[in-house]
Amino acid sequence: MARTRKYAMIIDTRQCVACGACVIACKNENDVPNGYCRDWVDQITTGTFPALTQVNRSERCHHCEKAPCVSNCPTAASHYSGDGTIQVTKSMCSGCKACLAACPYDARFVHPVGYVDKCTFCQHRLMQGDEDTACTEICPTNALTLVDLNSLDGVAAKKMKGRKVTRDKFHLGTNPNLYWLA
Ligand code: SF4
Ligand code: SF4
Repeated sequence: MARTRKYAMIIDTRQCVACGACVIACKNENDVPNGYCRDWVDQITTGTFPALTQVNRSERCHHCEKAPCVSNCPTAASHYSGDGTIQVTKSMCSGCKACLAACPYDARFVHPVGYVDKCTFCQHRLMQGDEDTACTEICPTNALTLVDLNSLDGVAAKKMKGRKVTRDKFHLGTNPNLYWLA
């Protein structure tokens, strides 16, 4: 019997140089229209001049385990996919934007065609056995790692060892699946 997968992403903020390759790769892979993006890079500056610190964060849908976009979708277009990802069935989406209002991570947009779009963790690739999304494959510094939480390998353990791991807005109870290494 096939093993159930539970995809998540480890994002190493020390490795990210904010080159934006992940954004371009995603646009090309997923035919994201001009003016929109499924992933983006936040540059967060903290401290007081001249003692400033900048952190680069490659962002996307957090594929929440308790996803408010799913619970607030009136047509069930937004759904749990069974592999740990959250997906949108285009043909069922009315474009009402209830999910946009419910998502605490601003991860969604209305595609010009009318349905709601967002990061899918390149599920079309995963279904063919690929272990990389377009963004994890292109990242020149290896800042992004797609993992299966049901089968964590040595690579993931090595990346996380000794590092502070956080999940964004964890207090909201969404149980997000992007793991940030500080
Ligand atoms: Fe950062 Fe990698 Fe994205 Fe470049 S491709 S912005 S280094 S995560
Ligand atoms: Fe839904 Fe937003 Fe969570 Fe993604 S980040 S699963 S769009 S609530």
